[in-house]
Amino acid sequence: MSTQLRRQPEVAPWQDPSAQPFLRIQNVTKTYGKVYACDDVSLDIYQGELFALLGGSGSGKSTLLRILAGLVKPDRGRILIDGVDISDLPPYERPVNMMFQSYALFPHMTVEQNIAFGLKQDRMPAAQIRERVAQMLELVRMSDLGKRKPDQLSGGQRQRVALARSLAKQPKLLLLDEPLGALDRRLREHTQFELMNIQEKVGTTFVLVTHDQEEAMTMASRLAVMNAGMIEQVSTPAGLYEYPATRFVAEFIGATNLFEGRIASQDEEQGTVKVHCDALEREILARYSDPIPVGTPVSVSIRPEKIDVHETAPTATENLAVGQVVEIAYLGDVSIYQVKAPSGAILRVQETHVVRSAEPHYEWDDTLYLSWDAASAVVLPA
Ligand code: ADP
Ligand code: MG
Repeated sequence: MSTQLRRQPEVAPWQDPSAQPFLRIQNVTKTYGKVYACDDVSLDIYQGELFALLGGSGSGKSTLLRILAGLVKPDRGRILIDGVDISDLPPYERPVNMMFQSYALFPHMTVEQNIAFGLKQDRMPAAQIRERVAQMLELVRMSDLGKRKPDQLSGGQRQRVALARSLAKQPKLLLLDEPLGALDRRLREHTQFELMNIQEKVGTTFVLVTHDQEEAMTMASRLAVMNAGMIEQVSTPAGLYEYPATRFVAEFIGATNLFEGRIASQDEEQGTVKVHCDALEREILARYSDPIPVGTPVSVSIRPEKIDVHETAPTATENLAVGQVVEIAYLGDVSIYQVKAPSGAILRVQETHVVRSAEPHYEWDDTLYLSWDAASAVVLPA
């Protein structure tokens, strides 16, 4: 998991009932033959957000972005920006721009000419164009490189030119489809922060498509997780990780242990339920936010880092499991252990290396006792 978090505003607009959404997507559906690329998607995005659409390949992210740009016409649904219905406007009349990947730069033009291209097409006066181009070059810290051609730039620099070009017309909304997909890992991380800083500086609302959950978690104010054309959940990065609403989200965001079971009993005073899990041959105590009737099939999600590991059985613990270490992965900052319970169920646990040591703490076949709090067990619809 990424450790960097975007600075959240004091009052998040999505928590303020009086705040007006800037971009409203209402009941948007788009089919290709029998495939629902977007299936009744509704979403509100606020001014100044860096909002991410996150999902696997084919989940409908690009289709939704193209619908916002006006490049694809939905079968049903409306798009509103700043209270104005833009659903019937052609792409060039929308206050929206799309940033294409860096290879879409014109190779025969200099950096300056690339940035000026759209402004010239709009017949902006030459003096104003010069001023705007200089502004954009400064924004992306490329003022010294304006006379270069794209092939004289590094991958990261080309990316910045593409961004400057897409911001030059000062769109109200910038759409980015996998903008960092062509960059290698290190450059990608660096560029993520650069993109976040620039977005914060200009204050333009960004909608970013990515299949990379770490990228979305790092950059976004909020994310929508998409699956088969539908939105599974919309929340902040921490909200998705700690309070997933569905099994899909729990598994898609980070690693987790998922166990199927049935509600065995409910304690309204404590706000807890006991879930009988066949795979673990035991009951798991979990907190709930909404009561769930006894007998309901559910899944329980427990994050690997929420599980405490002991060499001897701890007393007074809300949840306990025992098993043998069957797999160890040493990752430097953490070790991941797979622990096999007598039932055959595998639990994934994570140990953080706080103290410097050359080896993971435990070994294959070690018997480990695993405990976790009721609050760390998330009950999800089956
Ligand atoms: P993502 O960007 O999340 O990978 P897309 O929006 O590109 O997903 O695609 C969603 C679904 O719609 C996929 O099943 C894809 O095959 C289908 N699709 C997208 N565009 C077209 C098209 N122009 N013609 C036919 N099917 C399409
Ligand atoms: Mg796509």
